Amino acid sequence: MNRKARLCLKGREAIKNKNMTKNIISLRSIDKDYFVGDITVRALKSINMEINEGEFTSVMGASGSGKSTLLNILGCLDKSTKGEYYLDNLLINSLTKNQLAYIRNQKIGFVFQSYNLLPKTTALENVELPLLYNKLVDSRERRERALKALDAVGLSDRKFHMPNQLSGGQQQRVAIARSLVNNPVLILADEPTGNLDTRTSYEIMALFQDLNTQGKTIVIVTHENDIAQFTSRNVVYRDGKIIQDEMVKNKKDALAELNNLPVDNNGVNKK
Ligand code: ADP
Ligand code: MG
Repeated sequence: MNRKARLCLKGREAIKNKNMTKNIISLRSIDKDYFVGDITVRALKSINMEINEGEFTSVMGASGSGKSTLLNILGCLDKSTKGEYYLDNLLINSLTKNQLAYIRNQKIGFVFQSYNLLPKTTALENVELPLLYNKLVDSRERRERALKALDAVGLSDRKFHMPNQLSGGQQQRVAIARSLVNNPVLILADEPTGNLDTRTSYEIMALFQDLNTQGKTIVIVTHENDIAQFTSRNVVYRDGKIIQDEMVKNKKDALAELNNLPVDNNGVNKK
């Protein structure tokens, strides 16, 4: 093949790859107003944001800047006042409450700062929970998939432990397994390392990086710069607006950073 033909083929490949990029989130002129008495709080102001499949995005901003409001909308827990939200090419605005619940269950995995596991319920049963609402999955498949998800987060040997028999980091791993079990198109995490020490935070970020490498689209809200450095894209909010949206320069590898953490006298790693 001559050079011109090769270049032409290369160009076509590039166009094909570009077209293959799948849009997972598309926010178009999103407003969110809260009405409290006679006061209107404009929590999000004309937000436009696109996230493609396989992106790992961190959302930052001061308290009150609109991060949780954004996550609630992305997670179909709340609707915008104005604008359009497409999730996996589906227009969310027009859906009923029941349809939203279905979309949440099928397409989104949630991870919270305080893990939100059911107490007095084993790790395995906690992970099975999202599948209980899926009529197409019988009890045997439910168990198989939950075991696989627990294995993916390195907790196969803790499946019969109750949440109070697990460390914070392990509880968050169970929560991440639960978020994975429905094979969602999107994982949303609100301050997932907010309650964890540095070493455990980095371990959780290593797990998210691993999932992202396998193709998962992840959005996390965080207050911490070092946590955001483990993601690929950083979006900063202020007063309900995006003030910065950049690819992370020198993205860090959480496993490598774990090994760099100094060990203090108690053998516990500190920042
Ligand atoms: P962040 O998560 O960045 O701290 P939020 O999204 O929680 O910010 O809040 C954005 C703004 O919206 C704040 O001014 C907050 O007071 C207001 N707000 C959030 N939730 C509600 C609500 N349910 N009712 C009224 N105002 C709200
Ligand atoms: Mg918040």
